[in-house]
Amino acid sequence: MGDAIRELEELGRQAATCTACRLAGNRTNVVFGVGDSQADVMLVGEGPGYHEDQQGEPFVGRSGKLLDRLLGEIGLSRSEVYIGNVVKCRPPGNRDPLEDEIEACKGYLRRQLELIQPRVVVTLGNFASKLLLRTDTGITRLRGRAYPWWHRHLVPTFHPAAALRGGERVVARMREDFAVVADLLAAPDAPPPDDAPDEAGEPSQLELFR
Ligand code: URA
Repeated sequence: MGDAIRELEELGRQAATCTACRLAGNRTNVVFGVGDSQADVMLVGEGPGYHEDQQGEPFVGRSGKLLDRLLGEIGLSRSEVYIGNVVKCRPPGNRDPLEDEIEACKGYLRRQLELIQPRVVVTLGNFASKLLLRTDTGITRLRGRAYPWWHRHLVPTFHPAAALRGGERVVARMREDFAVVADLLAAPDAPPPDDAPDEAGEPSQLELFR
């Protein structure tokens, strides 16, 4: 087993006992992330919901079924990608994670990205997309293209829960975004985008999120 895989497992064990923020108080399980630790694609949601908290796995509810379907349509199974969230414990009542909760948790996501090194990051929904792209622009305007992001591609799309509410029209937009992912994967030799806002060198990983 490679060092990165081992370290990711160790990080998951650490997260399982994390008490760095108030979300630890109400959780059933820490939802660290699942999938291929060497995946080309990492999907990032907002935070676990009820079913995810119960089962300890991201996107296992109805949203997850839709996500699996859309992945399947571009030839990917859940086990071939990596799926995680901005925060690893369920916010009460599925509210948005608070600033200090994101701050307490962001080291896990940062290290997951560093260890997995996905070529393409897919942010699911307004919350994760705005946070990782450091923008106030909403997902409806952001989506439909890839952005250079710390020498990777970032593809923002709707949250599958929004598609469940919004129906086929929203699913169709998500399908377009997943086609962008498929196109990026089909060009494996394309150099990673040279984007770094901090041109002086490696971006300060601490500043991945505002
Ligand atoms: N919504 C999310 O953002 N993440 C999950 O894991 C489940 C639902």
